[in-house]
Amino acid sequence: MTTMRAARFTPATGKLTVEDVPLPAPRPGEALVKVAACGICHSDLSLLGGVFTTSLTAITPGHEAAGVIDRLGAPTAGWQPGDRVVLHAGRACGSCPACIAGAAADDCERIEIMAFDFDGAWAEYVVVPVTSLVRVPDDIPLEQAAVLADAVSTPYAAVVDTAAVRPAESVGVWGLGGIGIHAVQSARLAGAAPLIALDPLPAARQRALERGADHAVDPTAEDALDQVAALTGGRGLDVAIDAVGRGRTYAQANRALGYRGRLVMIGMSMDRFDLGPQTPFVRDRHTVTGHLGYRKAHIEQLVRLVATGRLDISGSVSAQLPLEDIAEGVRRLETHEGNPLRIIIRP
Ligand SMILES: [Zn+2]
Ligand SMILES: [Zn+2]
Repeated sequence: MTTMRAARFTPATGKLTVEDVPLPAPRPGEALVKVAACGICHSDLSLLGGVFTTSLTAITPGHEAAGVIDRLGAPTAGWQPGDRVVLHAGRACGSCPACIAGAAADDCERIEIMAFDFDGAWAEYVVVPVTSLVRVPDDIPLEQAAVLADAVSTPYAAVVDTAAVRPAESVGVWGLGGIGIHAVQSARLAGAAPLIALDPLPAARQRALERGADHAVDPTAEDALDQVAALTGGRGLDVAIDAVGRGRTYAQANRALGYRGRLVMIGMSMDRFDLGPQTPFVRDRHTVTGHLGYRKAHIEQLVRLVATGRLDISGSVSAQLPLEDIAEGVRRLETHEGNPLRIIIRP
């Protein structure tokens, strides 16, 4: 076989098409992975909509992938064709000061991201560095493994690393879509108490309650901040996670913080960043941090948490579509049809 089917996006025309392209060949240090499942993410919509850019004239999107090793560019200790894997989307640039000093992708200062800097996995096959491979046990379905890459690992990293949630800390999560719902589950794992989920959609709030939130609040209610204050005994939140990233969400999340409260922002937009009057922020020792992505260790931890039954993400696969229906999958996420968490492409 010398060709494969792949979804190709051309930034100049804004067109996404499924076509035959040459089958890529792995070099030494790389693996050719037969893609079993790849998620459709809001970051992909940002690429397709021109909000995120790529330096390439055409690219294969898709950065939340799991599959089976087809072949290795050179024999690699620990890996064999047929091994089931989920893929870390980051690739070390090889030339920045950190890389020259021997860093891996996690610490590269100019990290290259699958589907933005090199071809991704809305395709039958993808080539990745062997350092991106994370083993998946036989009892975890590959469509669930794909959800771990980004949709779960990014909010998990935000909760356990950036926010460093400790047991019995009060946590609020704004936005309960594909990222926020997994922030709720991660905060639950980390011991958050109480854990408050905020979303205007009643169905999204209900889903968060089923996945470990103690309380659900409609952030558009006039007394939303009073409700959060009451639920935290008047103290305010130790940690607020903004999985939406709009002006109204981070402003409200910031106002919900208590003494030494930490606001971590995962959602992104071009909205102005306004945290209100400065004195209360300083007086109450607030922290605001941006968060993007995850480290490889986070995927390894999540595979273990799923395998041991600590984390159930079986309900996070909202639909599975063939590669030829990629445009339909994109449309469903764009329109929020059926309030999907992750729509998975099965090439
Ligand atoms: Zn993603
Ligand atoms: Zn680098």
